[in-house]
Amino acid sequence: MLDFSLSDEQLALIDAARRFTREHILPVAAACDRRGEFPMELLEAAWKAGLLSPTVPVRFGGCGLGELDNALVCEELAYGCLGIEAALQCNALAATPILLAGSERLQREYLGRLAASPILAAFATSEADVGTDVAAMRCRFERVGNDYVLNGQKAWITNATLASFHVVFATSDPKKRHEGIAAFVVERGTEGLTPGTPEDKLGQRACDTATLTLEDVKVPASHLLAEEGKGFKLAMETFNQTRPAIAAASAGLMRRCLDECIAYAKERKTFGTAIASHQMVAAMLAEMSIRIEATQLLARKASWSLDRGVRDPIASSAAKAFGADAAMQTATDAVQIFGGCGYVKEFPVEKLFRDAKLLQIYEGTSQIQRVLIARQLVNR
Ligand SMILES: Cc1cc2nc3c(=O)[nH]c(=O)nc-3n(C[C@H](O)[C@H](O)[C@H](O)COP(=O)(O)OP(=O)(O)OC[C@H]3O[C@@H](n4cnc5c(N)ncnc54)[C@H](O)[C@@H]3O)c2cc1C
Repeated sequence: MLDFSLSDEQLALIDAARRFTREHILPVAAACDRRGEFPMELLEAAWKAGLLSPTVPVRFGGCGLGELDNALVCEELAYGCLGIEAALQCNALAATPILLAGSERLQREYLGRLAASPILAAFATSEADVGTDVAAMRCRFERVGNDYVLNGQKAWITNATLASFHVVFATSDPKKRHEGIAAFVVERGTEGLTPGTPEDKLGQRACDTATLTLEDVKVPASHLLAEEGKGFKLAMETFNQTRPAIAAASAGLMRRCLDECIAYAKERKTFGTAIASHQMVAAMLAEMSIRIEATQLLARKASWSLDRGVRDPIASSAAKAFGADAAMQTATDAVQIFGGCGYVKEFPVEKLFRDAKLLQIYEGTSQIQRVLIARQLVNR
């Protein structure tokens, strides 16, 4: 049986996320973008509404939402501001490896904290020279007595300066590549752990992104999340689980583009008629709608599979690649429909255009999604 309908609970969840977006995100999004700052003041409201870390299981005090539910939330939040959505959703990125590999004690402590308080978390694989090629990381760990000691620098870390804890991937020896990588949970404020100055970014500026420097950072052995040789696989499994939510966020951004464009195209007149009645403009609106529909289907199918325990990396990567590319094309067309007004900050689509670009870069670029899909196709 194939059923595309959403449950009453899911429709209520969409309503709640939409209300939160209208009341808490839309009013502050432009100012946060201008200042390049995450609005910490909305964290508590997001937590109270059950929209922060929603996938933390009930047994740890969380809402226990599935991946499909989470995708529905991401789509609504991204409609308001992709940068704010990315910062909030980063909690799921940090929670997922703990859920997948954490000891009962680590899960109780860190998932419990995500459920019990309005905090942010971070996830760190990337370094200045290492993004796509995760196995090439150079941040080191070594066992010293009962502790691990971490040294190196992570780069591009979402929530780096705001997170209460970080999931950090490091290697025993860069020459070992995949075989050397382990993962740890590192507390904010641990001696030797220093977040850098937030990056001055093109888009998604409301989300904090910075380096994380580790100098002789002592991590207790109990905070080992994945032992040497298991960290790389854990990172890949995490991305497999979180990529559909990026596709969902892409759909949210595209819905916003379409709404802004419909309103503008009905209002703006050229040659004595609304530009919406020019076929080439109307065709761009129709293409946007097609991309939204296709992205929602891919995102929801990939999330639905995850909820059923079906491992389908092609579905996750396809949703992420298609959604990100569709969002970039849609935001480009939105600027086009606004003409000159699309190119200035006074109108909303300029921000949507800048925000969209990052979808094609983080959690695996659009190119690497295709590499991953092709590898699955050839090797099965
Ligand atoms: C704002 C922002 C937030 C981020 N948040 C996080 C975070 O929270 N945690 C984290 O760990 N990382 C984060 N990242 C890092 C992000 O995941 C990397 O930037 C991304 O994976 C690309 O890596 P890179 O920048 O090193 O590019 P590179 O790996 O140097 O790639 C450069 C170009 O080469 C292409 N390329 C590389 N290898 C191949 C290949 N084999 N085949 C085809 N093309 C290839 C890429 O697609 C890209 O176009 C973030 C990045 C940004 C910009």
